[in-house]
Amino acid sequence: MPKGGQQTKHIFITGGVVSSLGKGLTAASIALLLKRRGYSVKLQKFDPYINVDPGTMSPYQHGEVYVTADGAETDLDLGHYERFTDIECTQASNFTTGRIYSNVIKRERDGGYMGGTVQVIPHITDEIKKSIQAVESEDVDIVITEIGGTSGDIESLPFLEAIRQYRQEIGRKNGLFIHMTLVPYLRAAGELKTKPSQQSVSLLRSIGIFPDIIICRSEVELGKEHRDKISLFCNVDKELVIEEKDVENSIYEVPRELKKQKLDIHCLKQLDLQVKPLNMSDWGTMLNRLIHPCNGQVKIGIVGKYISLQDAYKSVYESLTHGGIAQNVKVVLHMVESEKIEECGPEALLRGCDGILIPGGFGDRGIEGKIMAAGFARKHMVPFLGICLGMHCAVIEFARECCGFENANSEEFDPSCADKVIQLMKGQQNVKKQGGSMRLGSKVCKILPDTQAYRIYGKECIEERHRHRFEFNNEYKKIMEENGMIISGVSSDFIAEIIEIPSHKWYIACQFHPEYQSTPLKANPLFKEFIGASLDFSINEKEEEKYAMV
Ligand code: GLN
Repeated sequence: MPKGGQQTKHIFITGGVVSSLGKGLTAASIALLLKRRGYSVKLQKFDPYINVDPGTMSPYQHGEVYVTADGAETDLDLGHYERFTDIECTQASNFTTGRIYSNVIKRERDGGYMGGTVQVIPHITDEIKKSIQAVESEDVDIVITEIGGTSGDIESLPFLEAIRQYRQEIGRKNGLFIHMTLVPYLRAAGELKTKPSQQSVSLLRSIGIFPDIIICRSEVELGKEHRDKISLFCNVDKELVIEEKDVENSIYEVPRELKKQKLDIHCLKQLDLQVKPLNMSDWGTMLNRLIHPCNGQVKIGIVGKYISLQDAYKSVYESLTHGGIAQNVKVVLHMVESEKIEECGPEALLRGCDGILIPGGFGDRGIEGKIMAAGFARKHMVPFLGICLGMHCAVIEFARECCGFENANSEEFDPSCADKVIQLMKGQQNVKKQGGSMRLGSKVCKILPDTQAYRIYGKECIEERHRHRFEFNNEYKKIMEENGMIISGVSSDFIAEIIEIPSHKWYIACQFHPEYQSTPLKANPLFKEFIGASLDFSINEKEEEKYAMV
């Protein structure tokens, strides 16, 4: 309950017709608008799959795993929530069917049901309702809960039944159902079709959920006739049929489009909340810089193994865009498959890049290509940012090329190698459990004065988020430093958190993931300065003669 004992208000967002409608972006946009109208908002997502969390899932299945400050491995939609709203997500912000069931089964094994038969209804649905309450608190006015999946899916039914019950319990004025659907455009017929939306709403109504607001995703504008039809057949007022057309330039335009149709005001009115003034001027300025940057463009090479997957490095791509906004420059992403570098060499694929980034990753496929990319950036003075596995690659390359450890490697890729410059962390040696068992979440890092890292962050103490099992082997610290790669940031338990090469203009790698703490209004300092250095590189040093080997 929020201050004054008033019931926390709830908005439930469901989806219909197809998946990938952008429910997460919509939830984040609504949260931003409501926050900017003076309300304290929390977001949460339910995912109907049986994995306890996405931490063990392949990027091919799930895209990026987003890590919260308190160390939860979560769905990538939580990244949108945090980037749009700057509202911190927690362990209570993402529940899967697997997590709900394992809580219930654990309670059953502990004798918590006193001999009763444990059933989907009421025990699973009660557990889901408890998970909704987990984000309610004294100072939360509105909770937005997104239900993953699509209406009609067998696996989402317990979640839908739970939110139906929840709204019944808290009353109409305290709970709101928003349903997102697709209104497809049939090119051959030159027509928009509302029938799939009608059918998906009818499915929801058959299980007792009557949407209050319908958001229609479409490629083209909805005409009056389409809105009228949806309003009539789906039983919602005309102004509560909201159009969410594909945005032209950036996902950060979605809040502006929804605001134009007063979606935030409709939500507040439906929830019997006062419509307070809205201030989005900083968001407008940000959009303007993003869409019309005045410093030209920089090309950033991203060397990974899932570059064909849009979602695998989502937060990294977004953070690069944030860096571009901060530097008023367009960021062009040039994705490079690391295995291709192994085939063709880095020169062929990375020449022409103004900056090179190696993101996090697991396993040894394509690793030599990433190591070559780190070497290319080092030798050619191209600004370089290595993240987690990217830092491991930078360390291996430097150890091999500059310290004479020809066979240096990471214990992850070659457990029997002679020079394990990257090793399994002590605390990980007996860990057998797969999920939630890495070094996860926010940790403090101390930055050394007079370093590039210090100039970038401007302070001695920072907190960034982690997700790894391997670390820099401190036995090699002295020799690496003697040869010109220093450790400029360390954790309280002496884990190397940042490395850099002072003789290089901008060569930095970090053990943490700065991409989990970057927003369009406030780029993470590492991304901001990486793009700044790439911009300098593109202006000053790109000409052929200056691009020679050093
Ligand atoms: N695979 C490496 C480790 O576990 C790096 C992890 C990452 O890049 N997130 O330490």
